[in-house]
Amino acid sequence: MSKIAVYAGHGGTDFGAISNGLYEKDINLELLLALTSELRRRGYEVINNRTTDVNRNLGADIRRANSQDVDAVVELHVNSNMGIPGSGTETYYSVTGKGKELAEAIQTNLVALGFRDRGIKVLPNIFGGDYLGIIRETEAPAVLVETFFLNNPQDLSLYDPQKIALEIADAIGELYPVTSLKDDQIAKIQTTLNTLYEAGLVVDGIYGPRTKRALIKGLQRELNTQFNAGLLVDGIFGPKTKNALVNVRRGARGNITYLIQSALYILGYDVIPDKIFGVKTERAVRSFQQENGLNVSGEATREMQNKLFSSI
Ligand SMILES: [Zn+2]
Repeated sequence: MSKIAVYAGHGGTDFGAISNGLYEKDINLELLLALTSELRRRGYEVINNRTTDVNRNLGADIRRANSQDVDAVVELHVNSNMGIPGSGTETYYSVTGKGKELAEAIQTNLVALGFRDRGIKVLPNIFGGDYLGIIRETEAPAVLVETFFLNNPQDLSLYDPQKIALEIADAIGELYPVTSLKDDQIAKIQTTLNTLYEAGLVVDGIYGPRTKRALIKGLQRELNTQFNAGLLVDGIFGPKTKNALVNVRRGARGNITYLIQSALYILGYDVIPDKIFGVKTERAVRSFQQENGLNVSGEATREMQNKLFSSI
């Protein structure tokens, strides 16, 4: 089951933006409550930083997200400015690129409600890291949504917490789907990832973001152990990991073959992961290459694996 942290900015003695008797902290909380109930209705596990008007504690909020091993963090704010009112939505993600896809999905959906598109953004500090602690310090991808301008009457006329909650929940659903069927083979893959890489997965037979991360971590570990790749084992299939991939072909045996087979299985190809790159695996690789417009060789080339591990 996917687990999401939904946090509200400000609270208690920190009012955030104030405009025409409206306090940002109250709007943020209203959005948090609407999004939380929508996500729970859809079957998500949700944690919050506050559900009433109390001070927030950023450090505690970060620790909670990390210790609860959430899949993503969504922090809700509304904007305001001095002078002629600004307008529209902007969504922040990490300078490392973490959270970019979620930011994009949320931004696209909120703009569809009629808010002006101010774009997705990063906010670096003087060291080049993230200025926003919630984005810098959380292990899971974190985004901060500046939903609209509180001091803009037009934006305010578009404000409907339920509608905003539906759009953000849809965006979360695109990247962290909640429904998937239990599957014995997925349970076996989870058990193997736990045994080989101390992945600590719950063996529930449901493929989700945590199993994906464990699989990528396994791949990074294998590339480090077998090929001295020197990768950071972070479960993120980024440019360095992609560069370190090695071609694998029929006759190969071992853990990298197992991870390739698992990824093919997850994507619905007819292969049972057994660490042996045989005829059936080769056939699955061919199908995958064909369906993805790649050179159809039956060899799990770096190009093929790049597409494969990006697709799971
Ligand atoms: Zn704020």
